Amino acid sequence: MKTENKKGGAPELTKETSLDNKPAFIARGPANIYGEETKMLTFIFRTPPCAYNKCTMCGFDNNASCSVIHENIVKQYQDGIKTVDLKGVKKLDFPTAGSFYNDNEMSSKSRAYLFKEAAKLPEVKHVMVETRVDYLTLEKVIDSQKLLRSDQKLELAIGLESANDKVRNIVLHKGLTKTGYEHFADICQETGSRMRSYILIGSPTLTESEVIEDTVETARYAYEVANARGIEAFLAIKPMFIPKGTGIEKQFEEGKYQLPTLWNVIEIVKKITKLKEYQPNSIWVGMYDENLSSDRFTHNCGKCDKKVAEAIIRYNGTQDLKEFEGLRCECKGKDN
Ligand code: SF4
Ligand SMILES: [Zn+2]
Repeated sequence: MKTENKKGGAPELTKETSLDNKPAFIARGPANIYGEETKMLTFIFRTPPCAYNKCTMCGFDNNASCSVIHENIVKQYQDGIKTVDLKGVKKLDFPTAGSFYNDNEMSSKSRAYLFKEAAKLPEVKHVMVETRVDYLTLEKVIDSQKLLRSDQKLELAIGLESANDKVRNIVLHKGLTKTGYEHFADICQETGSRMRSYILIGSPTLTESEVIEDTVETARYAYEVANARGIEAFLAIKPMFIPKGTGIEKQFEEGKYQLPTLWNVIEIVKKITKLKEYQPNSIWVGMYDENLSSDRFTHNCGKCDKKVAEAIIRYNGTQDLKEFEGLRCECKGKDN
């Protein structure tokens, strides 16, 4: 839609045309599939806002638009995919501003379009979509799988964030029971899908050591649920960042919330790999802030941030703890 410029010049773009056709965020980075170092493309769609929209730390609303319809999704994909180098990309992630399987946020027509497009990318072997469990049904997953090639695996992602019921539902307001999470796992089992769990590092109300403990325990629980069903677990552990307009932003600005450090992140990764429930090559650390904030991401002293963050990003590809050897800085605590 265009509006006339009041001064009689060229028409101005309205918000709908300027934003609704633009993906919210695209990034290409290292990933690992079954021990093979590869590339992953994260393509975040601008969609209508999350119907739930209650989670304390969620800033996805900043990337949502109520006016997005199927044609915008098509345009976002077509324009966005042209801008990326797809060579070596074996993993394709399709996050949205909410739930991929909520028909009001992503229609079945749009979903079908995206899976058909993914099936045209010869190198892509994994396709990930994320959803609240409330919208996930066996039928929807089977419909999706039918559109992918037989050599492509569907990965279903859910925001678990913490296995601690109080942290998850009272502090973070996730509105997710363990029964709901395990039902999600059952659908992954029945459809042979891989299960991705998002896990938050740095829930408010927890001390630094409790953050480490909570994240590792959550990983243990996620593996346990997957192992009991014989399904592949993939953990996307997400160091906290402070998106605009969220409850956590207020606490951060008032000095009541402190971000975890990158050293904590490394400590957590090391501990997760030592769990007896651990599945090899199953950890990915979300090291970007998805355009929602720029300067308020988990960090160290400032001097060592770049080299430590780079090591974590390399780890996403290699899954080799050697990436963390030799990292030093005066800000590193005695225990790290
Ligand atoms: S974290 Fe997910 S479920 Fe929670 S409000 Fe954000 S998009 Fe919705
Ligand atoms: Zn430092």
